[in-house]
Amino acid sequence: MNYSQNIAKLQPSATIAVSTLAKKLAAEGRDIINLSAGEPDFDTPAWISEAATEGIAKGRTRYTASSGMPELRRLAAEYMTEGTAHEADPARVVVSAGAKQSLFNACFCLFGPGDEVLIGSPYWTSYPEMVTLARAAPTPVAGNESRQFLLTPADLERAASPAARGLVISTPSNPTGAVYSTAQLADLAAWAKERGVTLICDEIYREIYFGPGARAPGVLDLDPEAVGHVVAVNGMSKAFAMTGWRVGFSYTTIELAMKMGALQSHVSLNAATPSQVASVEGLRRAQPDGGDRKRMLEAFRRRRDLVSRLFDELLPGFPYVKPDGAFYLYFRVDAAFDDEVKTAGALCSRLLEEAGVAIVPGEAFGDARYARMSTASSDEDVEAGVRRMAATLAS
Ligand code: PMP
Ligand code: GLU
Repeated sequence: MNYSQNIAKLQPSATIAVSTLAKKLAAEGRDIINLSAGEPDFDTPAWISEAATEGIAKGRTRYTASSGMPELRRLAAEYMTEGTAHEADPARVVVSAGAKQSLFNACFCLFGPGDEVLIGSPYWTSYPEMVTLARAAPTPVAGNESRQFLLTPADLERAASPAARGLVISTPSNPTGAVYSTAQLADLAAWAKERGVTLICDEIYREIYFGPGARAPGVLDLDPEAVGHVVAVNGMSKAFAMTGWRVGFSYTTIELAMKMGALQSHVSLNAATPSQVASVEGLRRAQPDGGDRKRMLEAFRRRRDLVSRLFDELLPGFPYVKPDGAFYLYFRVDAAFDDEVKTAGALCSRLLEEAGVAIVPGEAFGDARYARMSTASSDEDVEAGVRRMAATLAS
């Protein structure tokens, strides 16, 4: 069978692949601690799930507008622009089947053959694939390791060719947990505006933030006059523990939102209607009732502290990026390389085999010296996972 050039370079998601393998081994009876995919270990808050069930009982089971139910678009606009100088304009929002689809829609509508798209590296594994599916060329750009890999305009200037059309970053970052300050974001946005580059800012971990304030700085916090073309992306998966519901959203210009909505109207139409009903409830209560989300955030912060302490104590030869948000620890593993094990991929296979711990090799994020463990598991699993890794790596 001949396949299209569209998928000539396509690889399955490495994060999903490791976690699927870990689940398979566990189902076969192996003692596996799965610290691979980043998925909150909490159930969706009951009051959100109940809203969906109620909605189904009342027949809210039909198609919606492709860009989402008007009420959800309004609430998402308010959620994303709260406390900013932007008016909450629902026409700028497209609701999609997860932030993943929002990001894909944006890349597919904005980039094409001959375009270069800069990607902050280490990057979330799907960004280069999405850019490549649009037949554009991804260029990973790493910031300085000593600055948590955060990018500066100088880094971008060095890497960009005249064909640069886009810049994709995540803040808080997956995989590092590093967070851009408002001033740092403003610098990147000013560079992008100057170069006519669209800035796609993935803020899916915005609420999972350990710094001051309720959420990490975002691109919509910046002075609208000072930024050019931006797309802010967020969703329900992480902060609301709703990964399987598949609801994400984007905020951008009305024109781009219309194009993304049109694309989606042919590809998948709307995010599942009961999921949208549940998301309305989640966002409606988001401001007054932060109870469940606060509890989850506290757990992520506690595990960040726990894992940092354990690494300092048990794995001093394995430096890590100090996470200020999200729920990962991104650490160097090259101290454990030997004649047989020369890459993070090989080392992670060894850890899975010998220690029964599943983590994601840095190749998935653009750096084979690193690996990423998720802290979105119970405190016990996180601690046992690090102890098992330490025993294997030290042997
Ligand atoms: N962006 C980042 C950085 C992520 O880690 C994830 C996790 N899957 C997503 C986007 C996609 O989230 P979802 O599609 O579940 O909304
Ligand atoms: N975003 C999570 C991760 O990076 C979930 C997996 C995925 O969607 O790729 O592990």
